[in-house]
Amino acid sequence: MADPNDRILIVGAGIAGAATALALAPLPVLVVAPTGVSADAATTLAQGGIAAALGPDDDPTLHAADTHAAGAGLCEAEAVARVTAEGPAIIARLAALGIRFDTDESGALALGLEAAHGRSRIVHANEDATGRAVLEGLIAKARIAPHISRRADLVAVRLEAEDGRVHGLWCRDHGGRLVHLSGRAVVLATGGIGGLYASTTNPRSAVGSGLAMAARAGAVLRDLEFVQFHPTAIATASDPMPLATEALRGAGAILVDETGARFMADVPGRELAPRDVVARAIHDRIRGGHRVFLDARPALGAHFARHFPSVAQLCRTNGIDPERDAIPVRPAAHYHMGGIKVDGTGRTSLAGLYACGEVASTGLHGANRLASNSLLEALAYAQWIAADIAHRQAHAPVAASAAPADGPPAGIEAVRALMESHVGVVREGDGLRRALRLLAPRMAQDDAALVAGLVTLGALERTESRGGHFRADHPATGAPRHSEITLPAAAARLAAHAEHALREAV
Ligand SMILES: Cc1cc2nc3c(=O)[nH]c(=O)nc-3n(C[C@H](O)[C@H](O)[C@H](O)COP(=O)(O)OP(=O)(O)OC[C@H]3O[C@@H](n4cnc5c(N)ncnc54)[C@H](O)[C@@H]3O)c2cc1C
Repeated sequence: MADPNDRILIVGAGIAGAATALALAPLPVLVVAPTGVSADAATTLAQGGIAAALGPDDDPTLHAADTHAAGAGLCEAEAVARVTAEGPAIIARLAALGIRFDTDESGALALGLEAAHGRSRIVHANEDATGRAVLEGLIAKARIAPHISRRADLVAVRLEAEDGRVHGLWCRDHGGRLVHLSGRAVVLATGGIGGLYASTTNPRSAVGSGLAMAARAGAVLRDLEFVQFHPTAIATASDPMPLATEALRGAGAILVDETGARFMADVPGRELAPRDVVARAIHDRIRGGHRVFLDARPALGAHFARHFPSVAQLCRTNGIDPERDAIPVRPAAHYHMGGIKVDGTGRTSLAGLYACGEVASTGLHGANRLASNSLLEALAYAQWIAADIAHRQAHAPVAASAAPADGPPAGIEAVRALMESHVGVVREGDGLRRALRLLAPRMAQDDAALVAGLVTLGALERTESRGGHFRADHPATGAPRHSEITLPAAAARLAAHAEHALREAV
């Protein structure tokens, strides 16, 4: 039997975990993930597709320029250049794995247009079911790959770290028992944080468990305050909220209120302005007492279901006929630009710990992600992480430390309500301080409260508006700067805020 100290542990089986596991061949890999292709992974829900500069009028430098423009001054030039350059090769590799992307009548890849992209460059599969199609393809390969094994009965709860090096994981099994796993490296691929918000398009389970584990192990986290709110989640009681993909607006669907007024008509870019601009416009309209609808009838009419079968199905399930009715929409937490800080090889600040996919902050997205860049990012970094691990020596085995103690969860619904009210599309100091006062006492015990508290702290301390972060009390944009935090630094800053609040109160 292979030495467990030689294996690589991957937490999560969305696109980031699955692609990294495959790329690591022939090194032995153990994937810890409770689900396969299921709604537990945001990847399964991805509709629009994967951005890649493949059109005859396109070039990776144009894709890079659009990525920078959306990222509002915080994208890292090297990450943007490398990822956008890799796009066409990534699509070719997926096609070689047997993933069938949609083509036009001439047999060329059909390229969709999405907001803030200057060219049509969104590659898609099964029309608007790209994420599921790609993940099914990757997981089918992973199932037959001899180097990959999987523990579906375990959920990771803590990293095991010593002297700045991670060498294992503590997991919980179905019976609540703690199980220790050792490995030469750990790759966190646990996805985003939308589940921390009452209104989200993410799986409810996306509460940032990887961020919490990395924070508790001492890793540097970056730009946590940048959360992207998708403008057009379908306004139903479903949780998570179904998404009306941006590609609908790319195909000509317009935003109107209940009076039929097209309120984006005078905004530069109109319905295809950057997501934060559209989300704020809808938020303001709703705060003004209106209802907002995405009207695809003039653009798509009876062709809706043919081009957007997943959205058509989601609408029908919620009693909406998109060929006859405008679709009610409102913004919802969708994507986390912030995450565990990584370098160009996916390494975090802790030796032996890597992060891939939405949980990572690579520098690609800056303050606002360009649509369809996240699946691309996960696929690019999966290879770079695998290459880096392959070139590193396995370390000497380390004995397992004592099992961690964790407290009872703090009550996720309370966290979701606080984040929704105070750390949403529009933020302001008083609300952020209120949320932080309520979250702070729970952060030591509960991972969801810890991540929510760190996002709130970042939002409070960023006294400017930029990309996905808008402060009503600081609407101007300041000089570009990243925010970085570790858990000890957060504790000191929280104490300073509490002391300040106390002084104000007396
Ligand atoms: C509705 C929707 C539509 C989207 N559309 C697009 C699009 O068209 N194009 C695009 O580029 N991006 C899109 N995105 C964003 C994109 O889908 C995600 O950013 C991406 O799929 C994240 O992949 P991931 O592998 O990092 O995380 P996920 O796919 O969320 O996978 C995370 C995995 O980690 C597991 N996990 C989490 N915590 C633990 C733990 N403690 N122990 C064990 N396992 C754990 C989960 O069960 C899951 O398997 C969309 C997102 C949503 C929600």
